[in-house]
Amino acid sequence: MASVRILIIEDDRSIATNLYDFLTGRGHTVDAAADGVTGLHLAITHAFDAIVLDIGLPGMDGIKVCSKLRSEAHVDTPVLMLTARDTLQDKLKGFEHGADDYLVKPFALKEVEARLTALHKRSSGRVTEKVLTAGELTLDPRTLLIQFAGAEVKLPPKCIRLLELMMSQPGRVFSRAELEHGVWGDSQETSDTLRSHMHLLRRALVEAGGHDPIETVHGLGYRLLERARPV
Ligand code: CA
Repeated sequence: MASVRILIIEDDRSIATNLYDFLTGRGHTVDAAADGVTGLHLAITHAFDAIVLDIGLPGMDGIKVCSKLRSEAHVDTPVLMLTARDTLQDKLKGFEHGADDYLVKPFALKEVEARLTALHKRSSGRVTEKVLTAGELTLDPRTLLIQFAGAEVKLPPKCIRLLELMMSQPGRVFSRAELEHGVWGDSQETSDTLRSHMHLLRRALVEAGGHDPIETVHGLGYRLLERARPV
């Protein structure tokens, strides 16, 4: 497995030490911070391929760190969130603030490594393409500027990827498996992840353009419509 530069932001000393020892032992370069402010500073001032970010941190929590990283520092290093609770609300909150993936404690160290390398591989493998359009929607893969009916749509990274995929072939039905594979690769395991991102994506589109251009095709998957559905 290729060597990856990883930042661990985790205040639980034994979890942090286990992660550090395991990942360095696997040949990765690892840096660690035990609180949100230090972690955010490191994430902004140094180049990492992926970040492991605990939600419960002293001072500034993981959600805040992720949100500042994305919206203030404009750093798009992939973030794997760690949390003690497995709730849909936590997931939505994490994804909404720019997390790319999510693991619930306790987790297997090998699982962390697999997720991190998958995140890194996908973020470095992005190809630049021409501006995509579908009806009133436009998406520029270079700037990640998305507009719907003239209004800018702000989306977390994975929602952008999801939309980009569906915009590559408007009108076509994409199966859940196809979307999961296209956005998260093979490491994706929880069926909730696609549903959560689809929910965020559709909500953001409705807010920007006044209607939902995505149709749930029962038993098959989802399709992006080029024209608004008749009411
Ligand atoms: Ca913690």
